[in-house]
Amino acid sequence: LPEIRFDVLSAGFAVIATERSKRPRDFMPAEDKGDELPERDANCPFCPGNENETPPEITAKRPHGTALGSDWSVRVVPNKYPALVARPIDQGEDEAWRVPPFPGSPEATLYWQAAGAGCHEVLIESPAHNGSLGSYSTAHMKQVLDVIKERFAVIYDSKDIAYVQVFKNSGRIAGASLTHPHFQIIGLPVMPSAVLSEGMRLKEYETKTRRCLVCDLLEREVEKDVRLIDKGERFLALSPFASRYSYETLIVPTEHVSGFSEMSEAMTLDLAAVIVRLFGAYESMFSSLPYNMIFHGLPSGVKTKRGWPYHAHIHVYPRLNIEAGLELGSGTYINPTPPELATKEFAAAMQSWEAQECSIPD
Ligand SMILES: [Zn+2]
Ligand SMILES: [Zn+2]
Ligand SMILES: [Zn+2]
Repeated sequence: LPEIRFDVLSAGFAVIATERSKRPRDFMPAEDKGDELPERDANCPFCPGNENETPPEITAKRPHGTALGSDWSVRVVPNKYPALVARPIDQGEDEAWRVPPFPGSPEATLYWQAAGAGCHEVLIESPAHNGSLGSYSTAHMKQVLDVIKERFAVIYDSKDIAYVQVFKNSGRIAGASLTHPHFQIIGLPVMPSAVLSEGMRLKEYETKTRRCLVCDLLEREVEKDVRLIDKGERFLALSPFASRYSYETLIVPTEHVSGFSEMSEAMTLDLAAVIVRLFGAYESMFSSLPYNMIFHGLPSGVKTKRGWPYHAHIHVYPRLNIEAGLELGSGTYINPTPPELATKEFAAAMQSWEAQECSIPD
């Protein structure tokens, strides 16, 4: 059984995941050359036709509703090597699965730990082995986001889950162990420190100004217009003022919503369009780009009523720079690419990508 432990010095958590050590390291490792990949790979467990190589399917989108066929467009399966596991139904009230209350005093938290209850799912975002976010139609990207929204709603319903992290590792350097394009969904039994500290920043700002920090920031960025990459109807893509990574971006709804499951159809559709355009630009700038994409959102209702506000957003961290001693030691990043310059390059890349898209005959 995995364990989750609290680090008193950093206030961060570590999942001690014994299952993961069984993970075969040399099995279909992620490659870093997107252009040369085939559309199908007979040895890939995520390619259509190999459905029986994954654990039993959780959900999928199929045009004709045929169960378990190979005609899916998006598919969600449990991670074969989960970092966190669901509480077995027959151990519902078992003490071993109880998440201990967070102790208030520092000395009581020295060895805080809990069972690694949660879930770890894989969202196979496309049947195409060589698929990428910039290659999808807006309609397909919306389907991916619809499935993410559904999973958010279902997983947050579990009493063991305090936070759901959706993310994507693309490229070996960014931590992908399989090449086939996929997202991961992890349900955690605790609120992670990264989200907690953002939430606390928003709370502080709200106490002083009665406004949302992110809403205000977006307003300024639109006025200044030097870091704005894309302006959809309901979402913006921008280069953060203090970008830590070269070509780091942030995708944010202009309407104040705390989580992804609350987003309307129109918002989801616009988010899909902004993601496809942004990654179209990334992909025309870099032939293969390792990156991490991180969804930050909290559901409105019970779980955000702890007293702090939130504004949903997505971070994209290209992994072109090496995180070394300064970054790990001081949380201070050296970024050789001014975000204002990156923005100009994104704008040019987006134009050439759009011109190319328009010239492809149907
Ligand atoms: Zn594949
Ligand atoms: Zn806001
Ligand atoms: Zn964030």
